[in-house]
Amino acid sequence: MFLACGTINYKHVFESSNHFRRSEAGTDCSRNTVGRVLMQIADRDAIMSEELSVSTDERLSVIDVTSRVQEAVPPEATGTCTLFVPHTTAGVTINEGEQRLLGDFETALSELVPDDGWDHDRIDDNADAHVRSMLVGPSVTVPVEDGQLELGTWQSILFIECDGPRTRTLRVQTA
Ligand code: ZN
Repeated sequence: MFLACGTINYKHVFESSNHFRRSEAGTDCSRNTVGRVLMQIADRDAIMSEELSVSTDERLSVIDVTSRVQEAVPPEATGTCTLFVPHTTAGVTINEGEQRLLGDFETALSELVPDDGWDHDRIDDNADAHVRSMLVGPSVTVPVEDGQLELGTWQSILFIECDGPRTRTLRVQTA
């Protein structure tokens, strides 16, 4: 994992965290005005990573996974929690988890993206799922404070399956 930083804030970043060290590129940072260097995280223990399995029984499903993600966040963590879906026909987003609204999201995705008529269907017959998941996106980031996801009052983490039923991976990485 790399963190890009500008020349001006390099010194602050370096001195404020013992999790970082200067990379080869970073050596030039203090005298280079290009304004962008790469810094490598040396202490891999600072990153906590877990994979959740999400199973569905419908082709298109919107599932509230907030409580499961919260359980995967270490209690001492303060920073950010990145959720990443390593699939091309599923996604993750943040919105309200009211049960009827979850159904409305499914209806909206179905109506926005027709089931048929796509070129990719000639080889895989699931272009609709690719396009729907592309609209949702594969990742979100949530602030974390003392092990708690800092979501808004009405915000939930929603996993979107577009080509189920099947079992998927949701990666939860806290740093
Ligand atoms: Zn496909």
